[in-house]
Amino acid sequence: MAVLKLDKINKIYPNGVQAVFDFNLEIKDREFIVLVGPSGCGKSTTLRMIAGLEEITAGDFYIDGVRVNEKAPKERDVAMVFQSYALYPHMTVYDNIGYGLKLRGMEPEEIEEKVTEVADILELTPYLHRKPKSLSGGQRQRVALGRAIVREAKVFLLDEPLSNLDAKLRVQMRTELIKIHEKISEKFDTSTIYVTHDQIEAMTMGDRIVVMRDGYIQQVASPKEIYNEPVNMFVAGFMGTPPMNFIKGSVDKDGWFCFGDHKLQVPLGKIKVLKEKGYIDQAIFLGIRPEDIHNDPVVCETYPNSSLNIKVDLVELLGSETNLYFTLDEQTAVASIPTQKIERNQELKLAFDMNQCHFFDTVTELAIK
Ligand code: ADP
Repeated sequence: MAVLKLDKINKIYPNGVQAVFDFNLEIKDREFIVLVGPSGCGKSTTLRMIAGLEEITAGDFYIDGVRVNEKAPKERDVAMVFQSYALYPHMTVYDNIGYGLKLRGMEPEEIEEKVTEVADILELTPYLHRKPKSLSGGQRQRVALGRAIVREAKVFLLDEPLSNLDAKLRVQMRTELIKIHEKISEKFDTSTIYVTHDQIEAMTMGDRIVVMRDGYIQQVASPKEIYNEPVNMFVAGFMGTPPMNFIKGSVDKDGWFCFGDHKLQVPLGKIKVLKEKGYIDQAIFLGIRPEDIHNDPVVCETYPNSSLNIKVDLVELLGSETNLYFTLDEQTAVASIPTQKIERNQELKLAFDMNQCHFFDTVTELAIK
């Protein structure tokens, strides 16, 4: 079992910088949790407090119901893998993985049993007698994981473990890490906490994502919920590439979102919420994801009340997808459409899928719902 509870955790560094504010989170057995947010938002500090490498200034941290604030890292049953996975260059893969166990005085037979088991999980068996220099980046990364897994810790902490790898390998290792997590959580009931600044990594890997900003948790939810129901403009803008478009305007009493000379019809359900919350005729932000803006003529004809004529400012060809940048009432927006022949300065009609749109308060930036 590995259930973690962080109760109002705060961190103030000796220089007075408060890195984490009232962090509340319960992590379930076998869960894969991703902490994500821009650099400096407090992810690593939180992870290091969980590991016991950084003192918790205020709040309580429990592992399986036991308060562990004052426990040393090695008494906490956590294993951490860092960004730079320094392996011992003169040792074989086998010795790199088993070294920690040897230091703890474990018998060679038992070490062999454990290293063999971990190598099997990580598919490193054919490389056990190689030295790190003759391994690929991904294999080295797995050896570093092996050193942590072999300790059979309850909690597995990963701080940007893929950031040293090239883009292609990173994508491959994401899937591998998920598989490894599944195997080890089944075997040892381990929970994993993974820190990254990369929103795609968070979306693809986490059972739940914790989005942080300036030391505060913004939202804790499944990737799907974070994407479809962001609680505020920060989460909405941080998750997704290109980011969600925000257009400032207001919804009139007839249910049109108006900005400059343009207007888009808002679905009834959304108008009801705006009415109930007192947002009619008030300045608000419309949020719409680039993939919810379409240029298919059939869609534009079907939804004339949510279609607008635009002129393309920039075409960004990405392969099967193309991003079209355009300006509406001096506000820049982007649509992601299937790649086709479209040129700069071309005039187009675009349909905004208003069923997928979001509204945000202009002052608090919170989602209106
Ligand atoms: P992240 O992992 O999200 O990039 P960190 O947890 O490393 O963020 O940092 C959060 C904040 O705490 C930043 O403002 C950073 O400058 C500050 N910080 C981190 N480590 C220390 C330290 N040892 N002493 C003082 N301030 C620190």
